[in-house]
Amino acid sequence: MKLKEIYSDKTPKPVISFEVFPPHSDYNKLLKEIKILKNYNPEFISLTYGAGGKGGKSFELLQQIKSLGINVMPHFICITSSKESIESALVKMEQTGVENVLALRGDIPDTDIKHYFDFNHANDLVKFIKDRTNLSIGVAGYPEGHIESQDLFSDIQNLKKKTEAGADVIFTQLFFDNQKYFDYIEILKKEGINLPVIPGIMPIISEKQITKMTSMAKITVPHIVREKIEKYKDDLKSLQNFGIDYATKQCIELIEKGVEGLHFFTLNKSYSTSKILDNIKGEL
Ligand code: FAD
Repeated sequence: MKLKEIYSDKTPKPVISFEVFPPHSDYNKLLKEIKILKNYNPEFISLTYGAGGKGGKSFELLQQIKSLGINVMPHFICITSSKESIESALVKMEQTGVENVLALRGDIPDTDIKHYFDFNHANDLVKFIKDRTNLSIGVAGYPEGHIESQDLFSDIQNLKKKTEAGADVIFTQLFFDNQKYFDYIEILKKEGINLPVIPGIMPIISEKQITKMTSMAKITVPHIVREKIEKYKDDLKSLQNFGIDYATKQCIELIEKGVEGLHFFTLNKSYSTSKILDNIKGEL
């Protein structure tokens, strides 16, 4: 089913979806986790494209996930890809029954990775995909603004270019402060962006993970989260439990406010995401 239909009235809300990334080796471990996550009836699983252009073997994994009977949404990044390679990958995807893609520019690569100039921004990629395929297209949105943009407003003007180029759904960067998401939705509406804006939820599982994410992106870490990370930095189990409770509360509030979906950044582990979904079962 295409994103457009998934987030229309045809599907019960909120739509549950998961993001995984291709591991360096041993797909079996990830596939085991995915089999557990399948019990939660995801509408699709999205598969990231290796940051820095390392996308190589993910097609094989995509096929394996599909063979479990789960819809897939591959991510495409254009900064490290040529038009030719993107076009042939898109053809291959459509031929194997993929209906949705997440179109991204990707982070500006390190100097040792080849940087193509066929596409400057994700809106160019969205237009390219729209012109050549019947794929339904998701794009990224940043409730606190993208790290390179001067301010949230200019980032939203650039998001508009992606929607005008043909995006169907916006998937957000993770956030820990729901108010940032609610404010974002309000601004998008005022700016005439009326697509579904699906919140990205990332359960906290380690201090390292939070430090990495918050150094790469503009993400407010509320005081309570900082406090618990500090308190449990040597006690992973307690930190993980706090992460589950925190994300559960986030999800409950988001559901109460009528979100159309919840997209979980699973970090290739089923445990925290499953617990959160168990906790919110009554709300779904
Ligand atoms: P763009 O939309 O091109 O935006 C990048 C910057 O340029 C922004 O500051 C924007 O305001 C500005 N901009 C956009 N369009 C224009 C324009 N036309 N003119 C001038 N300025 C413009 N990264 C990966 O490597 N692999 C992944 O699989 C991956 N998955 C992701 C999934 C989600 C849900 C999200 C939120 C992010 C993901 N990322 C991934 C990270 C993403 O690649 C980076 O955030 C990247 O820096 C920006 O990608 P983008 O598609 O948002 O770029």
